[in-house]
Amino acid sequence: MTRLIDLTITEALARLRAQDISAVELTEAHLAHIAATEPTIQAFLAQTADLALAQARAADAARAAGTDLPLGGIPLAIKDVLSTRGVATTCGSRILQGYIPPFDATCIARLSAAGMVLLGKLNCDEFAMGSSTENSGYYPTRNPWDVGRVPGGSSGGSGAAVAARMAMGSLGTDTGGSIRLPGSFCGLAALKPSYGRVSRYGLVAYGSSLDQAGPMTRSVADCARLLQVIAGPDPLDATSRNVPVPDYVAGLNAGTLKGLRIGLPREYFGAGLQPDVEAAVRAAIAWYASQGAEIHEISLPHSEYSLATYYIVATSEASANLAKYDGIRFGARVDQGDVIETYKATRGAGFGPEVKRRIMLGTYALSAGYYDAWYGKAQAVRTLIRQDFEQAFAKVDVLMSAVSPTTAFKFGEHTADPMQMYLADILTISVNLAGIPGMSIPCGFDRDGLPIGLQILAPAFKEDVLLRVAHAYEQATDWHTRRPALVQ
Ligand code: GLN
Repeated sequence: MTRLIDLTITEALARLRAQDISAVELTEAHLAHIAATEPTIQAFLAQTADLALAQARAADAARAAGTDLPLGGIPLAIKDVLSTRGVATTCGSRILQGYIPPFDATCIARLSAAGMVLLGKLNCDEFAMGSSTENSGYYPTRNPWDVGRVPGGSSGGSGAAVAARMAMGSLGTDTGGSIRLPGSFCGLAALKPSYGRVSRYGLVAYGSSLDQAGPMTRSVADCARLLQVIAGPDPLDATSRNVPVPDYVAGLNAGTLKGLRIGLPREYFGAGLQPDVEAAVRAAIAWYASQGAEIHEISLPHSEYSLATYYIVATSEASANLAKYDGIRFGARVDQGDVIETYKATRGAGFGPEVKRRIMLGTYALSAGYYDAWYGKAQAVRTLIRQDFEQAFAKVDVLMSAVSPTTAFKFGEHTADPMQMYLADILTISVNLAGIPGMSIPCGFDRDGLPIGLQILAPAFKEDVLLRVAHAYEQATDWHTRRPALVQ
């Protein structure tokens, strides 16, 4: 028998609508499972059981009164960089310990209006800087597939909570890969929307020109449902774009794969791919070919500059965005009686080592005399990277590759050398520089039983294409139905 915690959002909605189950039952099942599983996984930074039960009761009452909401009664948990009114939001940082936002991020307000039940806030690398959750200021989150390994990051709490059935879905955020990487390491469907597709209002900024929030779920249809609710322009975010939002769920089965042009970026299949990862990704691509898709090798010639470009742009923006945590405007104050000393003590105590490293890198890249050599140059190269994608999409409809060169790594494996950690995102960061949407879906397991993700990329605002192409593969495979041993 399927347990309530094993249902996808799509399945749960059908049963809620049939009044076969109630939102309270569904929520209680998740709360009980969290109580049993969270001590092992450590995905949550805050749990909101009372709020969840109140929202579940409201969802049941609304349904009884004949109101059918798109997510009425669906229990979700949210990455802790998205502001939640009345619920502590720390961004995984000690400097924001005790901060309770007086407002909701737009995507949270939209999920709540759609009937979400909020189970809590999820762990992440501090201010979303990292690839493993090891940079959380609180504790690392464990991967449900192997608790000796990282869940990926920075949205690692989101990846782990959804894979471990502690939430039916989550919103993560992705600045350089932070939705897709934990999606891949935890075996989920995970989508980074186009820049401007989802409002960033209330998303605590890391790299403002790169950040996007997006869904992480156990099926592609579930991703479509969450994206449907959060997508669309917002007067509170001038960078959100007024591009029509199609009906993503209705579009899942539209069209055919026959004649779909799939590009394989030569630069993404080079040395360094773990053999099991490459084999699984190539097998998935072969399946598309068997369905009539055309496979084309293409080139993204400026790929080799993407890591350097990203770490200048992202750290520069971070250094500006994090200036406000000074103990005066924001941040837990370490009072020294003198304002400059208070700044120093507050930031010295509140930020972890990776955040400090990035503030220093970004401040240097923006400083007088170095700006043109570093930040200006990186912006110019960013344009070239964006043009690489434009030229590729003149020839093909989607691009496919691995999400990461490896499957989930062990705790401590990359912490000594930041460069090794940065390389986990080598296949995802260009996408943020270009502003296009990208998705990870499960396409197999390595010899240690760890999930492998297939990355699918589409032109800006073509999330519908991503979802349709991903859904077709999911229908033909059962990777997404496998469960970690921990939750058998
Ligand atoms: N790992 C990358 C970084 O540390 C990406 C993080 C993210 O997407 N938020 O910047």
